[in-house]
Amino acid sequence: MSASVIIVGGGLAGLFTALKLAPRPVTILAAAPLGAGASSAWAQGGIAAAMAEGDTAEQHTADTIAAGGGLVDETIVLGMAQEAGDRVRDLLSYGVPFDRDLEGRLIQSREAAHSTHRIVRVRGDRAGAAIMAALIEAVRATPSITVHEHIHGESLIMKEDRVCGVVARDQEHRRLEYHASDVVLATGGIGHLYAVTTNPVESSGIGLAMAAKAGAVIADAEFVQFHPTAIAIGRDPAPLATEALRGEGAILINKAGTRFMTALHKDAELAPRDLVARGVFSEIIAGRGAFLDCREAIGARFAEMFPTVYATCQSAGIDPATTPIPVAPAEHYHMGGVLTDAEGRTSLAGLWAVGEVASTGVHGANRLASNSLLEAVVFGARVAKALPATLEPVAPPMTHVDDTHAQIDEDQLGILRETMTDHVGVIRNKIGLETALWTLADLAAHAETAPLKSMAEAALFIAVAAHQRQESRGGHYREDFSKSDPKRATRSHLTFAEMQSYTQSIIGAHR
Ligand SMILES: Cc1cc2nc3c(=O)[nH]c(=O)nc-3n(C[C@H](O)[C@H](O)[C@H](O)COP(=O)(O)OP(=O)(O)OC[C@H]3O[C@@H](n4cnc5c(N)ncnc54)[C@H](O)[C@@H]3O)c2cc1C
Repeated sequence: MSASVIIVGGGLAGLFTALKLAPRPVTILAAAPLGAGASSAWAQGGIAAAMAEGDTAEQHTADTIAAGGGLVDETIVLGMAQEAGDRVRDLLSYGVPFDRDLEGRLIQSREAAHSTHRIVRVRGDRAGAAIMAALIEAVRATPSITVHEHIHGESLIMKEDRVCGVVARDQEHRRLEYHASDVVLATGGIGHLYAVTTNPVESSGIGLAMAAKAGAVIADAEFVQFHPTAIAIGRDPAPLATEALRGEGAILINKAGTRFMTALHKDAELAPRDLVARGVFSEIIAGRGAFLDCREAIGARFAEMFPTVYATCQSAGIDPATTPIPVAPAEHYHMGGVLTDAEGRTSLAGLWAVGEVASTGVHGANRLASNSLLEAVVFGARVAKALPATLEPVAPPMTHVDDTHAQIDEDQLGILRETMTDHVGVIRNKIGLETALWTLADLAAHAETAPLKSMAEAALFIAVAAHQRQESRGGHYREDFSKSDPKRATRSHLTFAEMQSYTQSIIGAHR
């Protein structure tokens, strides 16, 4: 068979890989129209790149290692940091209007846990939307890229231990079979496995499950980053109350008006993200509620200073200048994913992974802000370089009409998501994780649709890895093992068979 490539996913990772492949032909399958259904378009910060005077790739690497809880792969991060400038220049060449000063130099901002000004942005908080708009235009103008939208990847086609295509469904739920010599997974994160998330609905973990079921190794699945202050007004996905509000002096209080973070950390509301998330979560589960009180610190200047958050609050009938904003932690980013080497190759021949679905080793146990867009472009470029130099276009898919029930049961999905938030979320313990394993295994066994089954399986990877890691590290916090254990400072690796047999051993032990 001649070489041909399918990319599953049309976020930054997928589009950048496709552009870097040009003029080699490639087909992109995307669950939603380009620009929608991708976290990339929602990124508010920007891209980390050591391009400012005095900054270095080594310093960027050191900051990333400090954030990553002892599990960051130093060589991989250094390589990523060294290529950051070139990839930002690529984005400029595709038309991304990064902010510049009067002399035309890129403006670099500072973000939490970066030791210097290092983030390139677009008009304050518009980086993700602007990057995606420019890339979508470039993709539409590139004849070698074919885009199939509203196509949901469901499983990988295998031939003798090699991936050779994708089974997908279109909007009419028809089953499509796409054949290719190589498949690049770029399906993003897992946010919608949780009841509260900042991610779009397409961040379902299905890509991760597709890879795992075909035999790929999943790494660091237990490491999930939660944003501490999503606005809790019952919206799904949950809108963010940006960290900048706390930077301006907004405080966290409970229903009784008590400021609870001062007792937990010397930096109170400005403590590390995972610690604040735990503080907020503890108040909520204790029934005391959690609110971001901006009345004194920001007050009447709110609408002018934070128009996006202001508009969100207003639409829910809250005036944040006079009323504390209800908040809750929300799943924000998955550090774990499909294990890859430095060029995006997974453990399975013919399968590549890039972007949030991949686990390259750059984030360790906790992601440094603005490193994820960078990872998507650096590894997208590397995957494109490593793929065959000559490619043929992907043939049109074989279409099968089948009457498999394809509508996800919303009640079952609700159980899955609540289980993950309650037991595999910000604060974990043995009993909660075992409850989750029971519930998720039952959902996986009895799911009537492939997507729900895959979501339950992806969730099981996180729950099993969290159960196995009897310590706390980075985004993974066990209240029954609240300290880091130096003996456990290694990345986790799990196959589908290992995940299943571990789940069964836990369930069996309780029978
Ligand atoms: C609110 C928010 C703010 C953020 N801010 C920043 C920031 O400032 N800086 C930063 O570096 N990172 C930020 N992040 C994280 C960053 O946006 C993501 O990690 C990154 O965009 C992931 O890119 P991706 O291409 O891997 O995935 P995505 O952009 O999520 O794209 C995934 C694509 O795959 C498609 N897809 C999913 N499943 C399937 C399937 N089964 N079949 C077919 N298609 C499928 C989706 O529809 C989508 O097209 C933020 C995230 C959020 C949610």
